[in-house]
Amino acid sequence: PITIDDTLRWLQRLADALHENRDYLTQLDAAIGDADHGINMDRGFKAVTEKLPAVASMDIGSILKTVGTTLVSTVGGASGPLYGTAFLRAGMATAGKHELDEADVVAMLDAALEGIKARGKAQPGEKTMVDALAPAVEAAHEAVQAKCDLIQLLQRCCAAAEEGMKKTIPLQATKGRASYLGERSVGHQDPGATSCWLILKTLSDTMG
Ligand code: ADP
Ligand code: MG
Ligand code: MG
Repeated sequence: PITIDDTLRWLQRLADALHENRDYLTQLDAAIGDADHGINMDRGFKAVTEKLPAVASMDIGSILKTVGTTLVSTVGGASGPLYGTAFLRAGMATAGKHELDEADVVAMLDAALEGIKARGKAQPGEKTMVDALAPAVEAAHEAVQAKCDLIQLLQRCCAAAEEGMKKTIPLQATKGRASYLGERSVGHQDPGATSCWLILKTLSDTMG
């Protein structure tokens, strides 16, 4: 299972990955947005790491809810409320838990995706973070059906997110700032889909 300690290690690793990929995410956003996605995510997760010592003895749901409120208040832009809602919903789905098994992980991912869709009104195919997360959630459901263990589940989830991220390149954006570019948004990878893949990749790497 994913323990409280794993959760804390994941969040630290994610903050490190977002810091390392700050310029990359910002360059992706420079092409089709306003060149701040890496800056936004790095700022938000740096704030999260500063909160981690204070939440280290709490249950997983409380930790994830703290991540959500921290992101809402520090990330800004479109991605702040979207990822903030995702982590808040993920925290509600795992309330009181000290460990997450395969079914708990699926419930957590379902809740995160529903939160993002409710908040951003985006469907798959609109060139957003939903294009990485939705296939990842589907892969997680399929992995449970196939009786995969937790590590396999997370690896399949991460692979599906990566594929979804790459598939945003030929899409035309119809949500968020990139939609202002119309056809000129085609040919670029979506920054939010890329950060979404990093979130799942660091979770998979933490457990694998
Ligand atoms: P902003 O566009 O306000 O500068 P960011 O650059 O931090 O915010 O985040 C941009 C990312 O947010 C996009 O790449 C896209 O993945 C995501 N995004 C924008 N609008 C939506 C939406 N309505 N639903 C889902 N994701 C969205
Ligand atoms: Mg931006
Ligand atoms: Mg912005």
